[in-house]
Amino acid sequence: MSNVIAVDGPSGAGKSSVSKLVGKRLGYLHVDSGALYRIMTWQALARGVDVSDPAAVAAFADKVEIECRPEDGAVVYYVDGEIPGDRIRTPEINANASAVATVKEVRDRITAMLRAMADLGNLVVEGRDIATAVFPDSPARFYLTASAEARARRRRKEEVDKGVANQSEEAVKASLLARDLVDSTRRHAPLRKADGAIEIDSSDMTLEEVVEAVIGALPEGWAK
Ligand code: C5P
Repeated sequence: MSNVIAVDGPSGAGKSSVSKLVGKRLGYLHVDSGALYRIMTWQALARGVDVSDPAAVAAFADKVEIECRPEDGAVVYYVDGEIPGDRIRTPEINANASAVATVKEVRDRITAMLRAMADLGNLVVEGRDIATAVFPDSPARFYLTASAEARARRRRKEEVDKGVANQSEEAVKASLLARDLVDSTRRHAPLRKADGAIEIDSSDMTLEEVVEAVIGALPEGWAK
């Protein structure tokens, strides 16, 4: 049985940077579960599916072919033989991913894909429901959070650095909070801190400090 480190938290809390670095240090595969919800959203929009209609999204949930390959320390996703890259990081996908993620058929499919990845080796999986619903039995479950201001600042910088958008910090914050609200109030697997998960508020911590806090809290023998 593989070791699975579960990292949940709201948008922009630093889950990706932390999970990637923890994975690299420990030789665990990094798994970005949000990218799967983004791929579903991207494909739904590209095919003209009405993403505000849960029945239409449910009917579409098994139509997208996603291939998962472990490459260079991460599980990489291919759609029609191509890596989606920054096409799934646009403000349009940000605005619609949470609606797509409310649909049970979408969640069930992605949850099954994530669980199957445990056959690939030890994992560090980031998302919204990893510790509560996907791998609830993992002994290494974390809830990473930060103030809305810190999260907006980081997410804006990321978008500008990647060249995908150049919105004001206020606009980024509004978009983050709108997503958090949908994510934490939805019926199926809402965003919440799992019982017994270790909470880390990264607002005033450096990336290195958060990585050390995670690695330091792992079960005996996991960080060799
Ligand atoms: O993490 P990221 O911002 O890329 O996630 C995009 C969206 O996917 C989130 O806003 C959320 O609605 C959804 N998501 C989810 N469960 C996960 C990961 C992401 O519902 N485990």
